[in-house]
Amino acid sequence: MEYIYCLLFFTFGAIFGSFYNVVGLRGPKNETFINDRSYCPRCKKTLSWYELMPIMSYFIQFGKCRYCGERISPVYPIIEALTGCLFLFSYMQIGFDWELVIALMLVSMLMIILVSDIHYMIIQNNVLRFFLPFFIIMRFISPLDPWWSPIVGSLIAIALLALIIIISRGGMGAGDMKLFGVLGIVLGLQNVLLAFFLACLLGAVVGIALMALKIVERKQPIPFGPYIVAGALLSYFYGEEMIHWYMQLFYINC
Ligand SMILES: [Zn+2]
Repeated sequence: MEYIYCLLFFTFGAIFGSFYNVVGLRGPKNETFINDRSYCPRCKKTLSWYELMPIMSYFIQFGKCRYCGERISPVYPIIEALTGCLFLFSYMQIGFDWELVIALMLVSMLMIILVSDIHYMIIQNNVLRFFLPFFIIMRFISPLDPWWSPIVGSLIAIALLALIIIISRGGMGAGDMKLFGVLGIVLGLQNVLLAFFLACLLGAVVGIALMALKIVERKQPIPFGPYIVAGALLSYFYGEEMIHWYMQLFYINC
């Protein structure tokens, strides 16, 4: 029975993932995505059902449109597989609990943000506005300890990012700040600060590596979204352990 649930969570994740690709891609261009069938962005040919199967269709078509030969972005199958894996992972970590609803919504929001940030380097306001009320309601049903942690976490995260935006004069965007405000509700004070720290650390490490390998220029702007997504997920699932481990390290070294 357990295997069936695992398979279900992965499959639903992959199906939702292909929807998040569309929301992340079309949302910023104000295109509709509810009634519209998927189409090739170059030849506008509507895709048939077997070209819409998550993950597999990319490989069936060898990563190209069957009609015009346009290369399909590997971002599609990657997001589908990633969403599938994260839905499965959330279920395995949490099981059937109200917190699982929060985990699945968090993964969903972050995947949409990842898609728009990779393609356009923007974080959509309406995506944050859509998820925020759900997170607030869900934190009443599945509260953190202490109960005020989400409120304080959200406010401090916004204040911290606002300060960085002022000091760095545009090194980070208002979108990043609003995203951290929403993440504060989900993660609580301690973990939202950890998420920010991890995002900066990952961004710095990958940024320096890319510059060293001459893949990107020093002045070239790099989207910060993927690091926020990684930092938030690591902090959500492993925050307690990481902070505990760090404290222990500190205690022994004193
Ligand atoms: Zn085409």
